[in-house]
Order: sequence, then C-alpha cells, then structure tokens
Amino acid sequence: MKLEKSIELYSKGKKHLVGAVNSPVRAFKSVGGVPIFIDRAKGSKIYDVDGNEYIDMVLSYGPMILGHRNSIVEKTIKKYLKNGYTFGASTKGEIIMAEMVCNAFPGMDKVRFVNSGTEAVLSAIRLARAYTGKNKIIKFAGCYHGHSDALLVAAGSGLATLSIPGSKGVPDEAVKNTLIAEFNNINSIEAHLAKHKDIAAVIIEPIAGNMGVIQPKKDFIDQLKELTKASGVLLIADEVMTGFRSQFGGAQELLGFEADITCLGKVVGGGFPVGAYGARNEIMEMVSPLGDMYQAGTLSGNPIAMACGIATLKELKKQNPYKDFEKTAAFLEREMKIAAKENGIDLQVNRFGSMINPFFTKEKVVDFKSAQTSDTKMFKTFFWKMMENGVFLPPSQFESWFLATAMTKRDIYKVRSAIQIAMKAVADKHK
Ligand SMILES: *Cc1c(COP(=O)(O)O)cnc(C)c1O
Repeated sequence: MKLEKSIELYSKGKKHLVGAVNSPVRAFKSVGGVPIFIDRAKGSKIYDVDGNEYIDMVLSYGPMILGHRNSIVEKTIKKYLKNGYTFGASTKGEIIMAEMVCNAFPGMDKVRFVNSGTEAVLSAIRLARAYTGKNKIIKFAGCYHGHSDALLVAAGSGLATLSIPGSKGVPDEAVKNTLIAEFNNINSIEAHLAKHKDIAAVIIEPIAGNMGVIQPKKDFIDQLKELTKASGVLLIADEVMTGFRSQFGGAQELLGFEADITCLGKVVGGGFPVGAYGARNEIMEMVSPLGDMYQAGTLSGNPIAMACGIATLKELKKQNPYKDFEKTAAFLEREMKIAAKENGIDLQVNRFGSMINPFFTKEKVVDFKSAQTSDTKMFKTFFWKMMENGVFLPPSQFESWFLATAMTKRDIYKVRSAIQIAMKAVADKHK
C-alpha cells in the first residue's frame, strides 16, 4: 500500500500541528502506522493524497450520511455562498432548519443552533441545571458527550482507546458533580437517585456509539424514562451521533420515547459545523434572550451551514434509506460472522440501523466493561488489511462504522471481500 505522500505530510504537519492533527483519533495512534491524509471524496469513495481509493465507512464520523458531495446539496451550498458567509444577524434559513428539526423530534418545541456536538451538550447540561436548580448530572461509562470538562470522565471514543482516565487539565471540582452509571444497568441509576437529592439530569447516548455500537436492552430506556420522571430529573438524549441517522427522528423515534432535552450534531449539518439542543417550550424559555441562562455564538446558525443542513435533511427525508441501511448492516453482520467462524476467531458484531462494528471477543458486548474485552491487537491487524483492500474504517476499536446512501451493492460486496481477506489475516497473525 503506497503511503509516501501521507508519510511526508505527517512529518511536515507535526511541526505546527499537535500530532499533525486537529482531533486525536485522526492520528491513528491505536492502530499504529501513519495517518492517511485525504485529498478528496465523492459519493461513497474517499481518496488519499497517494491516490488510494477507499469505500468510506468513516463518513467524517457520521455526518456524511448521503455520501460525499451529493449534487443537490452541493448546488444549494454554492447558491448560498454567493449571498455571503456570515452576518451576525438572523436569516430565514435558521427558521426553516428549526422547523425541520422540531418536526423530526416531537419533544422539541424550540431549538438553539450551535457549532458542534460538544457545544450542544455542554449547553444542554447548563440548561438542565438552570431549569431544575440542581447541580449533579449522571452519565454512563463509555458514553462520549464531547470534550467539555464536566463530561470528560469515563468517556469512550478516543479516551477509551488511549485508556486515559478522564483528561489532564480538568480540575476535580469540574467533575465532582458528575456521577457515573453503567449502560444497560438500571440499578446503577436507581442507586444514584436514591442516594443523591441534587440531580439535575441523566444524559445518555440512547444507542451508544462511542464505545463501539451498543444497543440498549429491551425496556432499559423505558425504565430510565420512568425513573427520571418520577424523580423530577431531566432526561437528556445525546443524539449527536444517532439523530437523523438511526431514523429521521433519531433513536427516540426508533425506540419510541421522548427525552426532556435533545442534543444534535453530525448529520444535522451535513458536513458543516452545526450542533443543536432543544426541548419543550417551558424548558427552552430559560435560554437567553427569553430567560436567564446565557448561551451564545458568533457563528451559530451560520447561513452556509444551515443551507447545507436543510438540503441534507430534505434529501434524506426524500430518500428514506433507513430500511435499506438495516438490510445492509444485517448483511455485513452475517458476512463478518461467517468470515470469523471460518477462521476460528471469536467475534461479536453489534449494530443498530446504519451503525455497526465488530468486537474481537467471546463476550457479549453490552457495556463499556465488556467492550473493553475486545482484542485491540486483532483489530489493528484487521484495520490495516481493510485499508489495504480499499475500505476506510475508523482507526479505533471503539468507533462505529457508518453507512451512506451513496453506497452501492457493488461497494458492499467489495467491503465483504475485504472482510474475508482481513479475517484470514487476523487468524494468520494471532492464532
Ligand atoms: C461526536 C459526539 C459528540 C461531540 O460532537 P463534536 O461535534 O465532536 O463536538 C457528542 N456526543 C456524541 C454522542 C457524539 O457522538
């Protein structure tokens, strides 16, 4: 596999960029080797600077659900670029986008747009505290909610692979109000609620995607909803990854519940930096300028980002790919399991909608602890063989792979062939 130009850029990039990246997972640290540098992408394909072509299952960690440079979306962006880039005043696009988002999520009467998932979540936490007048929050081990101080404990994603307990630079005071519960374990929530009276909210990725994909057990979310309601605690659904991805109305539509506050990001901007948080009127009316909870943003609701988001959501709604995603993911699950079995490899495949990933372990993966039983050395071998065979995967065991509507049957068969080769390579090296 030719990587000369990526190697060159990597060594140049390290001079003025930290680790040559602007987000740690891009450094490929947990799979070793050189991080690839991207030149361009179109549809289901992405091309690195050495001219290698890959089927893109990273999709920028989720946003590119239509694939890259969808022609309708691109036309819309170009049209809006001519009007200017940012105004520091309101535009019609924000109203259209707000209506689309609130229609998709019935629990949201009002929404506030921000610039990232991190911002959406940290604002939602502030809002929950403002509304309840309480301070503590509960999060689940292995769920990732962005990099704000209070949420950088027992987070998944980059932190899971690097085994960093939280992060340096986060003072104890910043996390002292963050309690940790176990995903899929309702008793762990009950225990906190019984012990602490000062709880503002429970935050959850309803379908976890940042410790690999982990589905909620049957009834887990219903029980969580009931428990929080009975205790006067708000339930925050962090749907930054699952919003518009697992269903148009996110995990909430799929699982049939309504959160008190919903956080969005990734798909909602279609590749531009957009995040959002929203809730019913009585909660959102706490937010400035209607209420006393301050939250602002120079570039929030950026007109180009809104145009891209609107075009993406419209196209997504029209294509309604969710049944097809489910079928494709089921196919990939089956093929991975067959290939693993043929090679004598213990493998779990977790998936939900268009999110899927394998774990190299005998144990059923239902929470952070079981996710960590996966053999990451095997994943590393698997990852590089997939790359060599033209499939771009997230360079970490603990990230979800994604599907895009631009993927064709041919692409999926190519992924299957790569899986067959990669599983054999894993067996050859580790058995
Ligand atoms: C990606 C992600 C975030 C953080 O979003 P950024 O845009 O990276 O700040 C928060 N929550 C979840 C569930 C995510 O997947």
